[in-house]
Amino acid sequence: MKIFIAADMEGATGIVHHDQLMPGGAGYAGAQRLLTGDVNAAIMGVLSGAPDATFVVGDGHGTMRNLILEDLHSAAELVIGSAKPWNKPLCQLEGVDSSFDMAFMIGYHSMAGTPGGLLAHTYVGSLVREWRLNGKPVGEVEMNAAILGSIGIPVALVVGNSDLQPEVRAWDPSVAFVSTKRTLGPTAAVCATPSVTSLRISDAAAGTVGRGSSMKHYDVGITRIEVDTYRREQRDKACTEIGVDTVGEFTIVAEAANAADAFRLMWRACTRALDETPSWLS
Ligand SMILES: [Zn+2]
Repeated sequence: MKIFIAADMEGATGIVHHDQLMPGGAGYAGAQRLLTGDVNAAIMGVLSGAPDATFVVGDGHGTMRNLILEDLHSAAELVIGSAKPWNKPLCQLEGVDSSFDMAFMIGYHSMAGTPGGLLAHTYVGSLVREWRLNGKPVGEVEMNAAILGSIGIPVALVVGNSDLQPEVRAWDPSVAFVSTKRTLGPTAAVCATPSVTSLRISDAAAGTVGRGSSMKHYDVGITRIEVDTYRREQRDKACTEIGVDTVGEFTIVAEAANAADAFRLMWRACTRALDETPSWLS
């Protein structure tokens, strides 16, 4: 069995504040250990039922150099490096191909605009007011699931903040969900300790073993992605990407035959829209 693990950071155990999310922040080193622990818990859960399983982990937050390679379980390889379009056109999912049996998303958060959502955003907090997939507002979990689905890979497990759970349930109630913390507001939560969350994650990951053929991938077919930006200048810069159009005052749109191709196009446009290359993308 081969599993792709997309790892974000805002929904990892114990993480509630921006200081924990970027290099140089006071809590960053500890947050790296917490995130690595969550991913290892999932890997060990799977290995308890499928000792020959292998994993590729996509480091998918900010600089995309967050997980601690030397502490990662040796059954996994790690995709490291920033999500420049010529580097990682699929952003958090670069490294996937049709050889994977299923995917996990660990460390995730709710979509931009979620009332009271803990560190809620969609891909780029300063740019994306709302991200729509074939007309439906979605967060990173559902968009990533559609990309994975276009490659034939089902999502078996999502781990993240409690306020993400309704978003996941509304999308696909059959996907296992583990909460790392109970959200109180945008930068506060009641957090379980790593010793507790690692057991929860490990148990849920073990439960995915053998589900195999019963899982369906999420294939949305022809894909139209619309992104409402915050400013007209962002929209205008994004539209310099060939194949990306504008609709309305702040909105950009990309269409393609499948979700992966539409995402690649929209991700190139989004990175173009940023005023200058931010440190997390360098
Ligand atoms: Zn993130």
